[in-house]
Amino acid sequence: MTGKIIKGIAGFYYVHDGVSKVYECKAKGVFRSRKIKPLVGDNVEFDVLSEEQSLGNIVEILPRENSLIRPAVANIDQAMIVFAVADPEPNLNLLDRFLVTMEAQNVPVVICFNKTDLGKEGEAERLAGIYRDAGYDVHLSCALAGEGIEAIHDLLRGKTTALAGPSGVGKSSLTNRIQPEAEMETGAVSEKIRRGRHTTRHSELFFVEKETFVMDTPGFSSIFVDNMKPEELKDFFPEFEAYEPECRFLGCVHVGERECGVKEAVKAGKIADSRYENYRLIYEELKSKRRY
Ligand code: GDP
Ligand code: ZN
Repeated sequence: MTGKIIKGIAGFYYVHDGVSKVYECKAKGVFRSRKIKPLVGDNVEFDVLSEEQSLGNIVEILPRENSLIRPAVANIDQAMIVFAVADPEPNLNLLDRFLVTMEAQNVPVVICFNKTDLGKEGEAERLAGIYRDAGYDVHLSCALAGEGIEAIHDLLRGKTTALAGPSGVGKSSLTNRIQPEAEMETGAVSEKIRRGRHTTRHSELFFVEKETFVMDTPGFSSIFVDNMKPEELKDFFPEFEAYEPECRFLGCVHVGERECGVKEAVKAGKIADSRYENYRLIYEELKSKRRY
């Protein structure tokens, strides 16, 4: 059989068959010869040892589409980051750091601003505008009223998504809204997603529906790519690129240089102040960390 590893604990791998059942598997012998270690998210070939007790043995790891280091997980199709329009107030510095982390690992990101019923007039659109202008796919939702859920469901369907965001922004509320009626009867999935959120410190996937998994991204606020060079950072702010040909100096990092196209674009309101501000903050931080 084939399945997907949704969790790994102390030498056991929990393999979801993609439909409804989870097998507790060992990975005996096969990996010792090779240097590959099973990761959450891996698609595997496994033998069923006991159908009744849901036990199995992993015999092969299928080829990976990708594997992330932060968080450690394989075959992630995309990340979805959720912030609230208000309550809690969005921390755009955290959002921008997360975007950089995903850009640097080549993971497509979707941004969702939830709680559109809160915040001052026009705030949701203002936030969405900043990130749409930067080239991101932005969705607005109100989990409370059930608005914008279908579009988010469409984004998740058939994919494995790393879900991230501070606590209290509505991630559980959104995922619970997406659970199809049929799955609700067990109550297991939504319960699990909620419980997992508060207890896991490691990566774990939750089955949503056929071929659809969501990962609660642990410690999202502290994840950041290691070893990024300060001068590389600009490459992970996609909206800078269009203005870089106007920088006078080759390799301009858009901080202290004169005649900088990016800084001009910020002044002209073509690049959001907050994005550039956060770029500078992260840049300074990377610089201070660099050791010679
Ligand atoms: P999580 O920690 O990100 O999983 O957030 P939860 O889903 O647990 O939601 C935190 C709180 O926000 C709960 O009290 C929810 O009822 C509430 N909440 C979720 N979505 C909305 C929304 O769209 N509008 C409002 N006003 N409250 C919401
Ligand atoms: Zn420049």
